Amino acid sequence: MSDCIFCKILAGDIPSSKVYEDEMIYAFRDINPMAPVHILVIPKLHLASADAVNADNSAYVARIFEAIPKIAAAEGLTFGYRVITNCGEDACQSVKHLHFHVLGGKKLPEDMG
Ligand code: AMP
Ligand code: ZN
Repeated sequence: MSDCIFCKILAGDIPSSKVYEDEMIYAFRDINPMAPVHILVIPKLHLASADAVNADNSAYVARIFEAIPKIAAAEGLTFGYRVITNCGEDACQSVKHLHFHVLGGKKLPEDMG
């Protein structure tokens, strides 16, 4: 989508710090990290949020979750990590291109809400 910041990252129009890439997905460092390791993993297909996942596109989500353990291992997250996706208004989703936050490198707060 032309006005989507993550589509612009995928197109190379906005710089990003690449962590992982294959033909379906892309992972890069969050510009405003909330933990020592804070990576965003996105599909190369524009999907607005987790609410747009269906049987036609869920292979992208499967691929993301196949890549996450590899990314976590490469980042040294041996003591664990958190995967979050914010979906819609109440979750304060700010970028309307499906993304999974991978957070780790410290003991994260218990409170998720
Ligand atoms: P969310 O609030 O779940 O939609 O998360 C959007 C995330 O994208 C935030 O953590 C931002 O810091 C991050 N972000 C926004 N623009 C960029 C960018 N150009 N490069 C890397 N991360 C970004
Ligand atoms: Zn997009």
